[in-house]
Amino acid sequence: MVASPKKGSRLGRLAPILVAAVLLCGVVFLIFFGDGGRLALGPCVPGREGAAEGASGKARGLLETRNFEASPRAIGDLRDGVVDERLVNTLQTVAEEHQVCVDAFKEGHYFLPGIPDGPLIPDGYGEAGGLPNTHYYGRAADIRRVDGKPLRRNGADPDVLDVGRTISGIPPGQRPDQIIGPRSWVETLGGSRREGWILDDDQLALHEDHLHLGYVSDDGTANTR
Ligand SMILES: [Zn+2]
Repeated sequence: MVASPKKGSRLGRLAPILVAAVLLCGVVFLIFFGDGGRLALGPCVPGREGAAEGASGKARGLLETRNFEASPRAIGDLRDGVVDERLVNTLQTVAEEHQVCVDAFKEGHYFLPGIPDGPLIPDGYGEAGGLPNTHYYGRAADIRRVDGKPLRRNGADPDVLDVGRTISGIPPGQRPDQIIGPRSWVETLGGSRREGWILDDDQLALHEDHLHLGYVSDDGTANTR
């Protein structure tokens, strides 16, 4: 006698599929609403409990600031104390008013994909090739998002522009002397080279998707106004 399939056994075969579907929904929920959401949004994680552990001084204060987001490598640089204090102060000033996400200071910064950074900007990175690499010395930050918005195509966004105005308001001796960003951002704000803004066409083209704030020297700035 041949046994015919019963309803019960069909359900039994469906059970693993149902379990898998429920698990998949859970994962999707986590990605969009839970901790996984931070991963899905990119390299930045919000400042939160534990991020400041091991950090000291101003870097600790920045890591404890809810508005300040950073990639794990950038958090590591702040903890290790390799980030210039003027840069930490500038980011703190900006984070008082806007949420910013720093993707890289020194660790994890690449001018050219796959090629480790060194003390000099590599040839091939626009006209700046051969100049000192401020990221290498912990004197530069790349901001990838402002108030949750990516920089690309948002250079003229009111919040992104406001970040630029806040930076412009920092006294010349403390303000970065390498301020670069998307062309629409730079041109709307109208800053000059003497105020720290870099206006070269090749550099604007290379910064369509992030703001670069840097200090050329570890002693003073090149800003004259
Ligand atoms: Zn940069």
